[in-house]
Amino acid sequence: MAAKRYHVTTFGCQMNEHDSERMKGMLDSLGYAEASERSEADLILFNTCSIRESADSRFIAHLGEAKRLKSEDPARVVGVGGCWAQSVKDEVFRRFPFVDVAFGPGQIHRLAEFLTSDSLSAQGYFEFEDFAGHLPMKRAREFQGWIQISQGCNCACSYCIVPSTRGREQSRDPDEVLAEVERLAADGVLEVTLLGQNVNSYGRDLALERRISFSELLARVDAVEGIERLRYTSPHPKDMKEDVVRAHAELRSLCQHIHLPLQSGSSAVLKRMRRTYDRRRYMDRVALIREHVPDCALTTDIIVGFPGETEEDFAETLEVAEEVGYDGAFTFVFSPRRGTEAAEMEGMLPHAVKRERMQRLVEVVQRRATERGQRFVGRTMEVLVEGPSRNDPARLRGRTRHNKTVNFDGTAAPGELVDVEITGATSTTLSGAERLLSRAL
Ligand code: SF4
Repeated sequence: MAAKRYHVTTFGCQMNEHDSERMKGMLDSLGYAEASERSEADLILFNTCSIRESADSRFIAHLGEAKRLKSEDPARVVGVGGCWAQSVKDEVFRRFPFVDVAFGPGQIHRLAEFLTSDSLSAQGYFEFEDFAGHLPMKRAREFQGWIQISQGCNCACSYCIVPSTRGREQSRDPDEVLAEVERLAADGVLEVTLLGQNVNSYGRDLALERRISFSELLARVDAVEGIERLRYTSPHPKDMKEDVVRAHAELRSLCQHIHLPLQSGSSAVLKRMRRTYDRRRYMDRVALIREHVPDCALTTDIIVGFPGETEEDFAETLEVAEEVGYDGAFTFVFSPRRGTEAAEMEGMLPHAVKRERMQRLVEVVQRRATERGQRFVGRTMEVLVEGPSRNDPARLRGRTRHNKTVNFDGTAAPGELVDVEITGATSTTLSGAERLLSRAL
């Protein structure tokens, strides 16, 4: 009998990408096969995000197609996982009666239970039970791996729904994390990314006798043979302590890139966002990074048009972007997320004002990133080859330790670490050519 086929659509963050790789690994181990098209699948799955209302509406459009496919073949199974499913857990089956199974971020393993049970009546699983680290994984790239080190968030940023969908912070046992790193290294993975909503507050909730700090965890991962590159996402500026910054200068595999979400350059706006740091504290962290790792790439997240944001507030965001000179930035126009404090705030700005400010911010970010990118021109950078270039298949694409994308001429294969001479830089990518006597593992 032909294997049943599944199709997974993933929305949102790296944590969801990681969870989807687990879902696929688990389904493969159950004898399912992956379908390239949703219309070919017996099992249609969505791993959802709920960070912004716009994410919801985009997902609902996809769900509409699943409904049509199920009406054409009622034997099809439709499943919804992730943060959106968690955020509508009490109404998902009432609003979408064609959905057969729904599960929260910490419940992927329950999907297997549902699929192997003989009753196919609608089931929902929403209490966080365990990390997915024990589930098989189907990695998008054999040489790169995600490792979840914590779940949930203890912060209360006024615009964010994550604490209510992923719960309070829970750190994964350090030995379990290390065992998974060793397994991946033995499996040929040379770049690992540690994942958590707030990775740098790792360990605080662990039992005293098991407790280690984030910088200690970084040092233990760095010591694993075969791991050439170590990354992590997403940190919070309030926990970017000196020991973590020093680790970037001292640990062999820890990459020279720190993502430090700013959100706003105005202390007044940061206060209403409940970000727990102000502009001065944030700039202190930047100074600390520049002191210990002068060449470190810095990227960030910025929200434009938060309720009540004045022209003066926004001018402060532009000042910080100018002063820091980020290597890259994810910029978002504020959109109220139902169920958050910010959605009820006074002072909502007209969309035109938000759009106009976004244009000014993007101009500063791109100009500064282009200026910062020039520091790589003329240097030979170690690049992890990821595949063909997206804008020219005759060239290759890879990433430096600074997390800069490089499009280059060369002959290397995906998964190789090569030396590339950098000849040009834009705000987003570098360009160059592989040095022929390049290192190859
Ligand atoms: S730190 Fe803030 S923005 Fe990040 S997940 Fe936690 S509550 Fe959300």
